Amino acid sequence: MRKKLLIGLLVLSLALVLSPQGMNLSHAAKKFVSIASGWVVGVYYPLAGAISSIAHKNLPDIKVTVESSGASVANAKLIASSDADMAILQNDIAFYALQGVKPMFDKPVANIRGITSLYQEHCQIQARKDAKIATVADLKGKRVCVGPLGSGTEQNALQILEMYGMKFEDFSKVERLTATESSDYLKDGRIDAAFYSVGVGAAGLVDTAMTVDCVIVPVDGSQRDALMKKYPFFTKAVVNKGAYKGIDADVPTVAVMAILVARAEMEEAMAYQITKAIFDNIADIERAHAKGKELKLETALNGMSIPLHPGAEKFFKEKGIKK
Ligand code: GLU
Repeated sequence: MRKKLLIGLLVLSLALVLSPQGMNLSHAAKKFVSIASGWVVGVYYPLAGAISSIAHKNLPDIKVTVESSGASVANAKLIASSDADMAILQNDIAFYALQGVKPMFDKPVANIRGITSLYQEHCQIQARKDAKIATVADLKGKRVCVGPLGSGTEQNALQILEMYGMKFEDFSKVERLTATESSDYLKDGRIDAAFYSVGVGAAGLVDTAMTVDCVIVPVDGSQRDALMKKYPFFTKAVVNKGAYKGIDADVPTVAVMAILVARAEMEEAMAYQITKAIFDNIADIERAHAKGKELKLETALNGMSIPLHPGAEKFFKEKGIKK
């Protein structure tokens, strides 16, 4: 008898869960938003995690999920195909996406819209000290990771090399590894150097420098000037002394901006709520990664390379940041 009752209850609860009404009950009016982020050992991923937890605490109707990815180029394509609702990516790549610059993009990513600028990402070429790479030109004949598949890093590597009259073919080996793998390969001596366009202090670079003696190869002089002229999203930047173990002098390089974007199709009210929640809870972003401290309402539109989403625009107009 008891057994029958139990089975009966089980069938009933199963039916409830599987029925359309049951579905509605369990997800009462929750809206799902996915953020395409980046490398697990980068900065996009922890920051997207912070945005997700801000939503969890402050926006009961919205559930934000975070995916890791190769990053910028891949993320723009996820926005185009609506496989992601939001994404973090480099401002240069966002602009190229909107324009449909080939060969990165077959066609314009017409639905990419800005939410806010986040922080500076430095082009950092991390090399094993024993590989004796003092300049970009010294990368000739070396085994180099040019960035993960779908990264903005790979594009920046191409652009930097171009200024030195170099191509990937000048390397003895070209690797496209995840940032976790490239860190491991550097530590094991399976590669000599790796390109990363990423916030200074990214876990992958910190970890590598803890394990093996490393340098950051400078990008400077006339090549840097030419680079900034041809690709105006690059700005002069410095990897500060002490940023990683063994870096005992400032290293000149270039930087781009990381920005948060959304699909144009996202409802205005939702984009507004998310933008507002981020700026109302900026301390949570700061806690997620040191780079989060660069996010400020006053500078939130610096380096924004694409039109704003109307929801974000409404927020920044209210705050007097946008005319
Ligand atoms: N900027 C990087 C890229 O698109 C990703 C950095 C990160 O994941 O923090 O190549």
